[in-house]
Amino acid sequence: MNRKFYLTAASIFCLVIVNAQTEADTATMYPGVQYHGDTTTHEATEFYRPVPPIVTPGKNCGDAPSDAIILFDGKNLNQWESVSDPSKPADWIIANGVLTVNKKGSGNIQTKEKFMDYQLHIEWKEPVDIDGSGQLRGNSGVFLASTGPGDDGYEVQILDCYHNTTYTNGQTAAVYKQGIPLANACKKPGEWQTYDIIWTAPRFDASGHLTDSARVTVIHNGVLVQNNFKLRGVTRYIGLPYYMPHGALPIKLQAHGDASKPISFRNIWVRPLN
Ligand code: MG
Repeated sequence: MNRKFYLTAASIFCLVIVNAQTEADTATMYPGVQYHGDTTTHEATEFYRPVPPIVTPGKNCGDAPSDAIILFDGKNLNQWESVSDPSKPADWIIANGVLTVNKKGSGNIQTKEKFMDYQLHIEWKEPVDIDGSGQLRGNSGVFLASTGPGDDGYEVQILDCYHNTTYTNGQTAAVYKQGIPLANACKKPGEWQTYDIIWTAPRFDASGHLTDSARVTVIHNGVLVQNNFKLRGVTRYIGLPYYMPHGALPIKLQAHGDASKPISFRNIWVRPLN
């Protein structure tokens, strides 16, 4: 009898442990979802809440979905401001629905709105008659968060690297001087190119200490070139990366100071993820 009793008690104990573990696993898989029921049934692991929001995709690949914030659609720069003087409008040039860097203007431009984590789509084109070499050939950049004036922030490089070489951690789609792209997916100058970027902003505690590094995924012309890359801090021309605490910040585009012809942009939209 004692043996039977102990075996039964042990079985119940194991079942409780297994169920508790399953509940823990479920909570991990579906944060915020309250587990109910017997995990030995298929219904127990099928959830009907939360319900994902309906997002209507764009008509064509690259078109903005229904919940995107349109940052540039060919008409105006109402969503942008000058970095050197945020009280002034962005002074880049719009013609025929295309935005072109103003190399004689006030420099970099940034969004008026600030963002934490997001999905960004941006299209850019090198001039068909681009000249220069290395870093001095159609240089621009997307700063995923502008931490200050000038080129302060986290830059994904824009450059003409179609038959143009430079240091690989500074070529097209590099996380500048931190992350060499997984591929060179450049199109010829004169052809439109796309970046689809998933940005996860760094997190800091109340004391300003880093708790989670920034991460970025970049798809260049449909090719994965940065795969959830973990940044070591802001991207810098000279010196090593470092983190300074911050929250939501603008997205910034670079007016690089090289003498080559200015590059152009179109169809820019963003989907905040928090
Ligand atoms: Mg650049």
